Amino acid sequence: MTLTGQSLVAGQWLGHSGNGEFNAFSPARNEPLATRFFNLSATELDSAIEAAQSAFYEYRKTSFAQRADFLECIADHILALGDELLEQTQQETNLPLARLQGERMRTVNQLKAFANALRDNPESPLGLKIVDEADATRAPLPKPHTELNYLPLGPVAVFGASNFPYAFSTLGGDTAAALAAGCPVIVKNHTAHPGTGELMARVALAAIKECAMPLGVFAMVQSKAYDISHQLVAAPAIKAVGFTGSFNVASKLQATIAKREEPIPFYGELGSINPQVILPNKAIEHSKEMAQSLCQSMLMGNGQFCTSPGLWLVPTGCDELEAHITACINDAPSDTLLTPGIVKTFKHQIAERTQLDKLSVLGKGKLEHEFHANAHVFACNADDYLAISALQEEVFGPAALVVRYDSEQQLMTLINQLQGQLTASIHGTEADLNNADSLIEALQYKVGRLIKNQLPTGVEVCAAMNHGGPFPSSTDVRSTSVGTNAMLRFMRPICYQA
Ligand code: NAP
Repeated sequence: MTLTGQSLVAGQWLGHSGNGEFNAFSPARNEPLATRFFNLSATELDSAIEAAQSAFYEYRKTSFAQRADFLECIADHILALGDELLEQTQQETNLPLARLQGERMRTVNQLKAFANALRDNPESPLGLKIVDEADATRAPLPKPHTELNYLPLGPVAVFGASNFPYAFSTLGGDTAAALAAGCPVIVKNHTAHPGTGELMARVALAAIKECAMPLGVFAMVQSKAYDISHQLVAAPAIKAVGFTGSFNVASKLQATIAKREEPIPFYGELGSINPQVILPNKAIEHSKEMAQSLCQSMLMGNGQFCTSPGLWLVPTGCDELEAHITACINDAPSDTLLTPGIVKTFKHQIAERTQLDKLSVLGKGKLEHEFHANAHVFACNADDYLAISALQEEVFGPAALVVRYDSEQQLMTLINQLQGQLTASIHGTEADLNNADSLIEALQYKVGRLIKNQLPTGVEVCAAMNHGGPFPSSTDVRSTSVGTNAMLRFMRPICYQA
């Protein structure tokens, strides 16, 4: 199927070159791809918002079973796209085929998990309804009958990330959660994979028609002009925003939201350096295995995961562990990153760190092409790390920092000064972990997911998952963007009395 380069608004494909256009980019060839995509105009976005508002009146009345059918229909149509989808995304992202196949399955399963959760609890989301029986005999006043249940918020704006073209994008977690909750969705498609976004929007339209859903229940906006994103989050009809991306962009959108008359929730899933705490016995007795696991996890997807381990806290003097890290990183091949902008930022951050005299380069992979990113692991001691606050920033790409601690007390100081993180892992032998209660107690307050003896990359989609964490890893520590609980972010409580 030929791509149109247009946006989906109320069941229509809109957009032409009059509002500006852009091309997708091939990271593998380091050049633009041929297909042109057209910026949606402000008036056309208004139509999408109006359609979402009128769709809300109808969609919110659908039963949980009807919504489940709709989500499953979307999942089936994603699979039916077959290789066309994978090929398009591979061109736009240069992510390996196996990774894309896995992510596609994860996205399909995510939609099905919401469908199952809706079917299993037809009366209230996740069976959360609470009934308080009346008691006419209670003195001095009778107790009324009350029931707590949940209502969808209204139209939701979703911003996908470049690094998860399926699972955190057009028909990814936020979209699935909002549709499950009963909210229409307007997706601002990521310009790193616009063709993938168009194919996914076709899927949504096919499912809307097949399930007789209102046309405005899903819209997809193509635009390289940032005004459109700000117009979307400022629109009074939009009642919540799901965002996956960088801290900087999240702050800009939040500034626009702060000017609204009606405040709305902004769920920003942002970056994180996912600290890895290596305890002394583990560092010495399992140095090779530990070094390899850390490097493999950090190199996965060329470091382009929000859960990539970017900070490794190791005991001072573990020469073998450090030597294994050096060997592993020096051998790592370079690879592309998702966009030229991400490459530029990565190289800038690496240059800055290379210039810091408190940091040494522990390992550095070969750079095969100038437009690639090669792995870097830096090292410093704990006091220097504590003195340079910029070292807490995420480097999005294949980079990590080893920080050497001298004592348990210094490790505790490092943990206490950490910013909020999506995840952290603590690696120790049984003997290490038997004495780590206070470290673990402190670490749990810094993260949304605390991991023992495993790496953070790979987020299981399941009911018990929590993907989010204290600021600045996300903007609302109370909710998750992965797992069926995510639908609660797009609902509000209501109490029915008598
Ligand atoms: P990004 O650069 O923040 O882009 C996110 C979205 O914001 C895109 O649609 C982008 O539009 C738009 N945008 C960019 N500048 C804007 C501006 N000035 N005003 C309004 N909108 C603007 O993020 P990314 O490169 O896609 O993703 C990388 C980041 O996401 C990393 O930090 C990573 O850790 C994080 N991430 C987090 C999670 C999580 O679950 N916590 C998951 C994946 C990724 P364009 O398409 O035009 O650029």
